[in-house]
Amino acid sequence: MALIAILPGDGIGPEVTAEARRVLEAIDPAFGFETEPVGGAAYLEYGQPLPPQALELAKRADAVLFGAVGDPQFDALARPFRPEAAILGLRKELGLFANLRPAKLFPGLEDASALKREVAESIDLVIVRELTGDVYFGEKGQRTTADGEREGYDLMSYTEGEVRRIARVGFETAMTRGRKLCSVDKANVLETSQLWRDVVIGVAADFPEVELTHMYVDNAAMQLVRNPGAFDVIVTGNLFGDILSDQASMCAGSIGMLPSAALNGSGKGMYEPIHGSAPDIAGEAKANPCAAILSAAMLLRHSLGRGDDADRIEAAVADALRDGARTADLGGSLSTGAMGDAILSKLG
Ligand code: ATP
Ligand code: MG
Repeated sequence: MALIAILPGDGIGPEVTAEARRVLEAIDPAFGFETEPVGGAAYLEYGQPLPPQALELAKRADAVLFGAVGDPQFDALARPFRPEAAILGLRKELGLFANLRPAKLFPGLEDASALKREVAESIDLVIVRELTGDVYFGEKGQRTTADGEREGYDLMSYTEGEVRRIARVGFETAMTRGRKLCSVDKANVLETSQLWRDVVIGVAADFPEVELTHMYVDNAAMQLVRNPGAFDVIVTGNLFGDILSDQASMCAGSIGMLPSAALNGSGKGMYEPIHGSAPDIAGEAKANPCAAILSAAMLLRHSLGRGDDADRIEAAVADALRDGARTADLGGSLSTGAMGDAILSKLG
């Protein structure tokens, strides 16, 4: 039976992953769970944010459910000791190169969106962001020019293979949805983007049923607020995806609602809410567990091949919201656990 690693992390991470675990247990009592601290919690216990036993568990498990890491008390530590190093280490060690972020507005939450109601209602898209290349990982540094001026540089680069594998994830995701893929680049200016476009067009030959379009990133940013309903799946590089996925999430409502997946192409994935550890509300049982619960649904869909169960969880969340179940971030007063109860009661 499937083994699910739970890495709760810091702040509200343990509170929201506990609710996600209850939902997974309700789906199948035979699931196995093992838990290890990561982030600040692991630093306090073991002196490092990603201890070997947590990494070993993540590698051994069929999928990883991650909470959130980070706390201001660790800000002064050197980068490798900060909580955030846990996520970067896991991405690297598990080869997680594809970040999937669905952005969808649940009925009843229209007022939480940054957009006008009629525009917000139309959002139902997935951003597929490349996670291991681009300016984040190219050659970088600072130097002094001949004129004695300081200069910083970050090389933007992608290999064909890197583009091909993320493009495939984009097309495959589109095949499971509305069969429309928009590849976002800046091919009018960037060499990287010209290669990106060539490779995406090459991969398209394997997916004749998917309608492929290309859009410059500046236009994509505009269309995301003007007419987000026109998008089904967006595939893009690390930098553009970072920016567009945060933008899309604000269009779709509360940060407490949105899940994400980081995948490696062999079925292994790490699933986490897009929100952080929210130290300001940690320990108060106020956190919205929906993003973590929807992340568990993505885990079932992408790592365990249980799309029907994922559908059931997503429907239960929608039903609970339709009935008026709301945590404080959504303008209600339910505790984290009571919101979990409301969703569990709809699972049927
Ligand atoms: P990170 O850098 O880890 O992304 P952050 O600084 O962007 O973290 P978050 O931890 O995501 O910030 O919190 C941003 C705000 O959203 C905070 O006010 C927090 O309380 C609120 N928030 C985040 N997640 C939730 C949640 N699940 N339920 C309710 N409120 C939340
Ligand atoms: Mg953040």
